[in-house]
Amino acid sequence: MPQESTNTQYSNTDQLITALKNKRNIWVLSGAGISAPSGIPTYRDNKGNWQAGNPIQHNEFITQESFRKRYWARSMAGWIITGHAKPNAAHQAITQLQESGRVSKIVTQNVDRLHSNAGAKEVIDLHGRIDQIICLDCNDISRRADYQPRLEESNPALNSYIERISSKALPDGDANIDDYATDTVNIPPCEKCAGTLMPDVVFFGGIVPKERVELAFKTLAEADCLLVIGSSLKVFSGFRFPRWAHQNNLPLYAINQGEMRGEEMFDLVVPESCEEILPELVNQLI
Ligand SMILES: [Zn+2]
Repeated sequence: MPQESTNTQYSNTDQLITALKNKRNIWVLSGAGISAPSGIPTYRDNKGNWQAGNPIQHNEFITQESFRKRYWARSMAGWIITGHAKPNAAHQAITQLQESGRVSKIVTQNVDRLHSNAGAKEVIDLHGRIDQIICLDCNDISRRADYQPRLEESNPALNSYIERISSKALPDGDANIDDYATDTVNIPPCEKCAGTLMPDVVFFGGIVPKERVELAFKTLAEADCLLVIGSSLKVFSGFRFPRWAHQNNLPLYAINQGEMRGEEMFDLVVPESCEEILPELVNQLI
């Protein structure tokens, strides 16, 4: 039987530490809030309102070259920021909790790979990874970092334009550049088969691969509790995990600033910066 819902009262760090003291298998779900201190912008503000324009849709990318041109031109500018983002104290703390055996699984809605770059092991990148590209024709996977020089060589005029403007970073490796600059972009094809390349990420309207979701649920079934870090849970692909946890009487905790979908399901919500709270958890729990 599901637990009875009670209205969540915001909690402090000490209450969270007390709740986690006897937990050995903490299952972590992270969202954009953990990467914001690393300079990666979020799609939503603290009220959960959309603030990032129109992100590309899966079908637009697959079916229309004009959308692929727009994507890659903007990505060429966005990579300069996203490709150099570094993990912050929150990512480091999660890695330490995993190494100490406290955290059993890390599932992230972020495509920035900052958990893995902070040394975390076997992270499930629910929505894919921006540091890889995949060929839609032969499925070859290659490094996004190696594609940047190919994009730059194929588009010298766009490259000098990007260097001149200081473009504003947007979520998921996107950046603002004028639309007229995107029309003439040359997209280098797959080096193996000359096919169409796509970032190895799940766009809006795309589907998270089934095996990835199944693995996440399998590990969640073995967990002691679920800890959400920095997510509004507005996207169903992430929300389904706390919802399942709630239906199965698994304790639910969150460190999240701003509004969160399904907040009433949670046992504890600490509305503070994860970059400050997580190192404190490491000090108290390890
Ligand atoms: Zn190919």
